[in-house]
Amino acid sequence: MEKGRQNTLASRTISSASYRKDFFSPGMRKDQTLLSRECRTFLKQVEEDSIYFPVPASSLDPSLTVSYVDSWMYERNYKEGNSHEGTDIMAARNERGIYPVVSISDGTITNLGWLELGGWRIGITSPQGVYYYYAHLDSYTDIREGNTVKAGQLLGFMGDSGYGPEGTKGEFDVHLHLGIYSWGTGEEISVNPYYLLRSLEEHRLKYQYS
Ligand SMILES: [Zn+2]
Repeated sequence: MEKGRQNTLASRTISSASYRKDFFSPGMRKDQTLLSRECRTFLKQVEEDSIYFPVPASSLDPSLTVSYVDSWMYERNYKEGNSHEGTDIMAARNERGIYPVVSISDGTITNLGWLELGGWRIGITSPQGVYYYYAHLDSYTDIREGNTVKAGQLLGFMGDSGYGPEGTKGEFDVHLHLGIYSWGTGEEISVNPYYLLRSLEEHRLKYQYS
């Protein structure tokens, strides 16, 4: 590799657009030694703390699948000027309250409750400080802010809440919006969850639901 390219990669910070967009991609993971220390550290923290795909498969009904595409920074259809900082995991059966949502990581519930954009959301901070944001839930299990959770623990059920005042539902199809954030530098920086989710598909739990 040319020296110029090496220098460019090594000087990237977590906030660089290309790092955030390509986060956890096979290419980035293969070339880790060329990343800056800060970028490599966050990649490693996410790799170590992310254990399970957030939506278990159904052991009862194989038609209850999910699907998602890389929609990083696409424009959203709710209010102007905000782009998509996450991945939408869509439900094949567009019915709220059916698909379970589990924690990707061990961690502490650091945010819980209503957000205009995110609806009923959950924010979990992992042991190494990775922030996982789960939005648009239909309902929660018996969890409270400050609780510790284990990877794979049931958090609630997928829904279509958000885009309005508290309790708004049905403004879009049922899905789980997942966000991944770093707080390492003192500011909140989102990275693209798409490639991490692809890799976590090998670690998908099975739950009994139909
Ligand atoms: Zn989304």
